[in-house]
Amino acid sequence: MDQCIFCGIVKKESPATLEYEDSEIVAFWDINPKAKVHILIVPKRHIRSITDLKDEDAGLVGKMVLVAKKLAEKKGIADDGYRLVFNAGKHSGQVVDHIHLHLLGGGPMGSMV
Ligand code: AMP
Ligand code: ZN
Repeated sequence: MDQCIFCGIVKKESPATLEYEDSEIVAFWDINPKAKVHILIVPKRHIRSITDLKDEDAGLVGKMVLVAKKLAEKKGIADDGYRLVFNAGKHSGQVVDHIHLHLLGGGPMGSMV
């Protein structure tokens, strides 16, 4: 996945402001934040999208959500609330084809619809 920007960040070949790292996951600030707090939770393994997830990835996806929850606490936005977003495919506006969970918060975000 030579062209994948998030694989580049995972390999430390591209810069990012890391907030979390373990053997399976990294989390870093979105380069173009849509909220006061906007962090991306990203598995180190290249998976293109939700569409490509397999049953055996359930643990990894659960771990991504739990990392987001802990980062929300760490950033002090857990009490007031936050939004977790997976974009998947063209209609969602997904632009980076390496699965990622958006953690958004730090102020009211309005309705989804
Ligand atoms: P999505 O629309 O769900 O594919 O969102 C991709 C997100 O990745 C966008 O919010 C971008 O601002 C963000 N992004 C793209 N390139 C980088 C980068 N090099 N470092 C951090 N965030 C990035
Ligand atoms: Zn990748």
